[in-house]
Amino acid sequence: MQQVAGSPQPSYRGCCIKRGMTVPDEPINCPICKSKAQELDRTGDATGFDCGEHGKFKVADTVFSTVKATTREQWERALKLAKGRAKLNEWPVIRHFDFQ
Ligand SMILES: [Zn+2]
Repeated sequence: MQQVAGSPQPSYRGCCIKRGMTVPDEPINCPICKSKAQELDRTGDATGFDCGEHGKFKVADTVFSTVKATTREQWERALKLAKGRAKLNEWPVIRHFDFQ
């Protein structure tokens, strides 16, 4: 009689499957103060934020792709510039040149 080393491994299929990466209602954070914010409607090239502290504003996607290592002071200043530019009944849109 042959000896079989070890015992047959039970199949654990299903227990180690990673969960999908898509999270539908992912909370987002205010890029300025990092506190929890609501996401507003996206319009083309900008993401809208509704922050309890900073109100409603938008950030152009180019900010996230071109502006690196921003401090809160830079963000506050950029928001101020964007607010000065925004028309009545329009949300301010922070753009990359606001950080220069
Ligand atoms: Zn904020």
